[in-house]
Amino acid sequence: MRTIKKLDDALISKIAAGEVVENPASVVKELLENSIDSGASSITVEIEKAGKKLIRVTDNGSGIPGSELHLAFERHATSKLYNENDLFQIKSLGFRGEALASIAAVSELEITTKTAQSDLGKRATMLNGGLIEISDIGAKDGTTVICRNLFNKIPARLNFLKSDTIETNRVIDVVNRLASAQNHISFKLISERKHIYTTPGNMNLLDTVYSIHGKVIAGNLARIDYFHRDIHLHGLVSNLHNSHSNRSMQYFYVNKRWIKSPFLSELLNGSFFHILEKRRYPVSFLFIDIHPSSIDINISPNKTEIKFKDEKSVSDMFKAAFSKLMENHSWIPEEKIHPRPNASDLKMHKEQSILEKQNSYLGSGDPSTKINENVSPVSFAEMESDYSNDDVQSSLQALLPFNSIYEECVKNPIETQETRKREYFKDLLLIGQVFDSYIICEDPSTNEMILIDQHAAHEKIIYESFVNQLKDKAILSQVLIQPFALNMPETEKTLLLASERALSSLGFEIDDFGPNMLLVREAPSIFPMQTSISFLEELKDMLLKTSAVDSMKSEEMIYSIAVKACHSAIKANDRLVKIEIESLLSDMDDLNNPYTCPHGRPTVVRIGRAEIEKYFNR
Ligand code: ADP
Ligand code: MG
Repeated sequence: MRTIKKLDDALISKIAAGEVVENPASVVKELLENSIDSGASSITVEIEKAGKKLIRVTDNGSGIPGSELHLAFERHATSKLYNENDLFQIKSLGFRGEALASIAAVSELEITTKTAQSDLGKRATMLNGGLIEISDIGAKDGTTVICRNLFNKIPARLNFLKSDTIETNRVIDVVNRLASAQNHISFKLISERKHIYTTPGNMNLLDTVYSIHGKVIAGNLARIDYFHRDIHLHGLVSNLHNSHSNRSMQYFYVNKRWIKSPFLSELLNGSFFHILEKRRYPVSFLFIDIHPSSIDINISPNKTEIKFKDEKSVSDMFKAAFSKLMENHSWIPEEKIHPRPNASDLKMHKEQSILEKQNSYLGSGDPSTKINENVSPVSFAEMESDYSNDDVQSSLQALLPFNSIYEECVKNPIETQETRKREYFKDLLLIGQVFDSYIICEDPSTNEMILIDQHAAHEKIIYESFVNQLKDKAILSQVLIQPFALNMPETEKTLLLASERALSSLGFEIDDFGPNMLLVREAPSIFPMQTSISFLEELKDMLLKTSAVDSMKSEEMIYSIAVKACHSAIKANDRLVKIEIESLLSDMDDLNNPYTCPHGRPTVVRIGRAEIEKYFNR
């Protein structure tokens, strides 16, 4: 164990100083980080009145030696950083040596601590920054810090705090973030004397995410694991079944430290561009392991922002890792059929929905949804350790759906991913077509039924091929046997003629055809004639809006117009003959991402045999 020492002034000036105590959540964060740094395997966080009245963090870590306890509260006293060299190798979460001092200055703080080496513990009490006393006390190994009446003596700060609901959510969010990353530690979270969750502490990220966020999030994650030079990217990202309406479910960690990173968020969203619908964001629990000297974490006082020295490397890694992930056929969402419950299932269903409610409460962090107090949540740790107990056994039986879903998540196919075979779709056993809209196939190798939305798939085939041509600056165009005359105001015609070069790069050859008439001689060969004409009209509207030839270069706009064009290129309700289906399947194999249409909707789903059997109560 390293001893606590005061930092010297030169070193203090090198670490950006800052106010760490903003609200209860920031106190919880600092106390948790200390507990994590202490090597604890179990940490309990309790708050009352959103932490404004009480915050208690209990750990079973190293404890603080009695002789050093008085130092722990001093500003710039730390056991984690001694000299400038250490600054470039920071592995602990804390290092500024000012958190306890700052918290002590604005609350009533009490620390009880005991190391394994000493027989007796120590308790220190502080009031608004001044040490009241340190006394001997019987205690377990580890440390308990209690922070009472935060900001009570500072009305201005107290007024700055938000409602209990918002502050509670902030605390839950902090615990969620730390607990997800530190999955070797079992975290227990209690608010207003109610148990919110316990993470298993079994070093399994998926189990941990499940215990915090529930089955919807945990059941729809794909594993990513990628090395790029000396950077390692790993963790979980959502599959196509689940996304979020904002970026709040994107967790990023660098060397296990949670960070806010618009940079990483952009990279992630970029990887899902054209895969998710507009304004939907992937969920992620992503970890980057990188040499500490390749980042600067010292740029913000609360250590939540970092800078990568080589951003290009990180962005290359994201691109490569995600394109590899999306090649994988287990990326296709698995459809679950839920058979209608019979009478005896109803009781179970009721209990399950209580648990689901509780999970959704945790997920959304919306405490306005009341937890049913009659049902105490079962943590996985409890499930396992008390398994021999008969009462627990029977209550576990009652919770069977919940339990089996948990097992499904744990056995999720993402564990056994294999890269998509080049001829995945072509090799499927073709069964037929229903509703003139869906193709049914069988994958005998996985015992799954594969359902393909033929229109969505067709749309994607047209779209990718157009985008590829566009990228290669080689749009294939066809000379129209009968040139098409378009009627339009002179101003619009002039505008289009002025953009002739740009239009030609998109496959259109146009000519002046007299007053108010424009002649289309060539059009992109990929679209049917009518689609090409509406594509051209959309381009014209875009030019009218921006009235600049240059705007043709605006890729994103062109892509979004192309998406529309592709959509109109497909016919509704087509009865396909076998050879047409086969050609569609083989075209799907050539796609970079055959799993979603250009709008981000799924083109294909897998339904396991076991799922179908459930439907018949087998
Ligand atoms: P920092 O974490 O930046 O070092 P803090 O003010 O948070 O600064 O803590 C000061 C010191 O007190 C730490 O360096 C550590 O030695 C000790 N300490 C604080 N909390 C704990 C804890 N829960 N278990 C063991 N040691 C602790
Ligand atoms: Mg600290």
